[in-house]
Amino acid sequence: MTSAAASLERFAADKLAQLDRKSLRRTPLVTQHHDAVRVERDGRMLINACSNDYLGLAHHPEVIEAAREAAARYGTGAGASRLVTGGHPLLFELEQRLAAFKGTEDCLLFGSGYLANLGITPALAGPDDLVLVDSLGHACLHAGARLSRARVEVFRHNDVAHLRSLLAQHRPRAGRALILTDGVFSMDGDLAPLPEILAVAEEFDAWTLVDDAHGIGVVGEGRGSAHAFDTPAAAPLQMGTLSKALGSYGGYLCASQRVCDLLRSRARPLVFTTALPPASAAAALKALDLIEADAALCLRPLKLAQRFCAGLGLPAPVSPIVPVILGPAELALHASAELQEAGYLVTPIRPPTVPDGTARLRITFSAAMSEAQVDGLADALADILQQAEAAE
Ligand SMILES: *Cc1c(COP(=O)(O)O)cnc(C)c1O
Repeated sequence: MTSAAASLERFAADKLAQLDRKSLRRTPLVTQHHDAVRVERDGRMLINACSNDYLGLAHHPEVIEAAREAAARYGTGAGASRLVTGGHPLLFELEQRLAAFKGTEDCLLFGSGYLANLGITPALAGPDDLVLVDSLGHACLHAGARLSRARVEVFRHNDVAHLRSLLAQHRPRAGRALILTDGVFSMDGDLAPLPEILAVAEEFDAWTLVDDAHGIGVVGEGRGSAHAFDTPAAAPLQMGTLSKALGSYGGYLCASQRVCDLLRSRARPLVFTTALPPASAAAALKALDLIEADAALCLRPLKLAQRFCAGLGLPAPVSPIVPVILGPAELALHASAELQEAGYLVTPIRPPTVPDGTARLRITFSAAMSEAQVDGLADALADILQQAEAAE
């Protein structure tokens, strides 16, 4: 080994040892997904209660067939960026469908939701501008904010008064201002107060970007967090992913035609990455067909979450994401291992995904789960929490 290679090895070994000491090392485990609910690990079948495939569409026979047919007809890869070789008609069709679904003029597809957020904010804000991000906003919102080189201010989670005071303080010296928030918070399952945020944004001439990765297909009767309120609260910039409730892969931004046109030329993760494979678009299109045809499907994940919380005496959830906060990372690891013993897959969520001291189980509900599976999980978790209390 050269000495440079050896110093790299030492660096990696030291960092890994540090992570191990804090119970923060992450290791993807070989897991076979037989369908949206049944997964197999180390030869054991488990009930999956941590997937974002909220509607079970990643395993739906019609979605699979749509992807299979598109791959057979059009090939498995797009070959280049759409700006180089042009885009497949399915990509344009999907953009029009998403825009209609969200009620916006236009839509733009990205390689993933993460890439969308790395592209949107830097295309709209620069060094003379102000970007305000919710403290619990997704990592890619924060990453996009930093990448823009604007002044970044983090407001306390869902604290509109704090957002307003930061705007009052910093807005006058900024050229443009953006507010970034999740619509449904990925690790807590709560909703952003979008009507209040949009009102403050209006007052200070700030543009709001809502990340609806966990909203589309599951809240607001499937139309997303903008529709989860008495009157719709549609931000001018609504991004999301095809990879969760839509059961496919890719990201999108729904916005006005001009804004989308600007991003087509200026969003670097769009200009410099290969387009989505046609099969991903075909799968998402079929998923949208199924969602639009079956309103009850989109309501089911939340109904199951409500049943689960009622059974355990937890506060009523507003999305299919239920956090059970345990505190130290070791406790979350332990509870997750116990649940696995009982036949349920619920991965522990640790820092830096969540703030220090708030490691948790993040339980998600898929329309594909049965009531009996939900009740079984509630019983198993009740036992584990009781034992943990008794041991204290
Ligand atoms: C999953 C997620 C993303 C990233 O979407 P991908 O398509 O998986 O890259 C972005 N924002 C939030 C809130 C998410 O939960």
